[in-house]
Amino acid sequence: AKREGRNRYSFFEIGMDETLRMRKIVEEDLRQAITRDEIGVVYQPQFSADGRKVLGVEALVRWTHPVHGPISPADFIPVAEQRGLIPLLGEYVLRRACRDGKRWKGISVAVNVSPVQFRQKDFVSTVARIVQEEDMEPARVELELTEGVLVDDADGAENAMMELRALGLRFALDDFGTGYSSLIYLRRFAFDKIKIDRSFLESMETTGESAILVHSVVHLGRALGLTVTAEGVETTEQQRFLQAIGCHQVQGFLFCRPVAAEKIDELLGLVGED
Ligand code: C2E
Ligand code: CA
Ligand code: CA
Ligand code: CA
Repeated sequence: AKREGRNRYSFFEIGMDETLRMRKIVEEDLRQAITRDEIGVVYQPQFSADGRKVLGVEALVRWTHPVHGPISPADFIPVAEQRGLIPLLGEYVLRRACRDGKRWKGISVAVNVSPVQFRQKDFVSTVARIVQEEDMEPARVELELTEGVLVDDADGAENAMMELRALGLRFALDDFGTGYSSLIYLRRFAFDKIKIDRSFLESMETTGESAILVHSVVHLGRALGLTVTAEGVETTEQQRFLQAIGCHQVQGFLFCRPVAAEKIDELLGLVGED
């Protein structure tokens, strides 16, 4: 076993392909990471279009590996999905978000849901149980879904959404505009919110076309009675434009980075600032 361990180590040394390397780290350590408190949840506030009022927060998972340091969710979520660890991780994040969000009265707490997690047979009952166990108001829990959730099994997704909506939960269509058929999904599924993907804002200043697209999406969302949130807002120019065209909510580094729950307490004035 010792020799095997050494071989494995040298495998790393000679420069294993990054993806393989990541897969190995995640496979071996993620399960333990959850029980060892290496997994954390940070929150990024969502503001009114003028950037003044906090209307909600989005929960974002963080993993600080004891050896490899911080690992991005963009890197470990796909592996967690492949290795069957996503339900465990997803439940952990939802529970933490409910526990923290409970004291943030009147604002929504958004949680990202992986398509793999959403497709679990017991997804609805698990979400319902966690929200109830944590004594969180269901109407303040917003599940962020991507198109990927809706593609493979549209009927199943529709049913799951209906059941959770009946309990009061809300839904946001995440990364809006990055897929191919977002418009069809908007008509079929009962979303409360659309989130315009960051990639649109990134290119907005350089090409007039992106600005036109963002404008159209905001217009469309409003016409359908949906809340429209723009993510990845980094400049005042972007914020002013979004406000001017009627985008409801803005989220991005311009206003606040994802922060620990205690910082949200401060932001909401829940702790003494004197
Ligand atoms: P996302 O859902 O699109 O989340 C937004 C990402 O953009 C976050 O990255 C956030 O930190 C980042 N961001 C926010 N504002 C700005 C900005 O102004 N500029 C730039 N450049 N970036 C900004 P993060 O936390 O690294 O998460 C990456 C992705 O990982 C998320 O994209 C989401 O798809 C996934 N993810 C994160 N947490 C979870 C989770 O708990 N469960 C699941 N299933 N997926 C998660
Ligand atoms: Ca999201
Ligand atoms: Ca996005
Ligand atoms: Ca996403």
